Amino acid sequence: MRIDLHTHSSVSDGTDRPDELVRRAKEVGLDVVALTDHDTFDGWAAALAAGEETGVQVVPGAEISTDLRGHGVHLLAYLVDPADQPLADELARVRHDRRARLARIAAALTSAGFPLDVADILAHSPDAATVGRPHVADAMIAKGYVRDREEAFAWWLGQGRPGYAAKYAPPIDEAIHLVHAAGGVCVLAHPWGREGARRALTPSSIEALRDAGLDGIEVDHQDHDESSRRTLRRLAHELGLVVTGSSDYHGTGKFDHELGVNTTAPEEWERLRSLAGVH
Ligand code: AMP
Ligand code: FE
Ligand code: FE
Ligand code: ZN
Repeated sequence: MRIDLHTHSSVSDGTDRPDELVRRAKEVGLDVVALTDHDTFDGWAAALAAGEETGVQVVPGAEISTDLRGHGVHLLAYLVDPADQPLADELARVRHDRRARLARIAAALTSAGFPLDVADILAHSPDAATVGRPHVADAMIAKGYVRDREEAFAWWLGQGRPGYAAKYAPPIDEAIHLVHAAGGVCVLAHPWGREGARRALTPSSIEALRDAGLDGIEVDHQDHDESSRRTLRRLAHELGLVVTGSSDYHGTGKFDHELGVNTTAPEEWERLRSLAGVH
């Protein structure tokens, strides 16, 4: 059983359509793939239909933008009821502010000497229910300002850079509560992937999140080196948290995150399913 629990389609900042992503999962020999677009469920129907056709088990999910004491932390949610109104409303709020943020980013980049407007950005994300900095990066590439998304983030869009703008995100414990109230389970995404989140996600704050209801942590991720993986795996065992491993595939939008590059053990996936009440 090969299980990949973290991928993005063109419904957020990936480059494959949801059905293409599922077909590719089939090609690379995955048995289970979760679609976890940022802050939206819009890709589920197409992905689930492609799952029926190909025999790949598609897990409906989302990667929710949350806040932990001023740091952006990503929370993977699985098996939630998409009709649950409080969760749907909160995600709509996040998407709405993401859209408003584009104008702030475009203005900042224009003052920094890279003229850009919101229409330029939206022209590069026709399928996206959720827009974000990767789409800004794509617009900058099209204008010839940068070579790739990596360069756009490193120089212009990353935190502390001239084109950075914050966005609304719910406090993480509130997001955990919303996911559970919607019948789902949640896993901390790449906790030690980025510097800011890493500083905020100390072992004791991860323990506090466990107490707030967190179900698991993503240990095997390309942004974690061997020593981070070892430490996080031990911490997960101590805290009784489920351990996952995933690709965080974004199509051609992110290098070195190919589908199936990391996978989740079947027993760990089974634990998540039973925590969500699926048998
Ligand atoms: P946003 O959601 O708008 O705040 O943008 C953050 C998203 O950009 C993350 O979820 C990643 O998918 C992507 N990202 C962050 N850093 C990079 C990078 N260096 N290269 C490509 N994509 C990145
Ligand atoms: Fe992303
Ligand atoms: Fe993420
Ligand atoms: Zn992701």
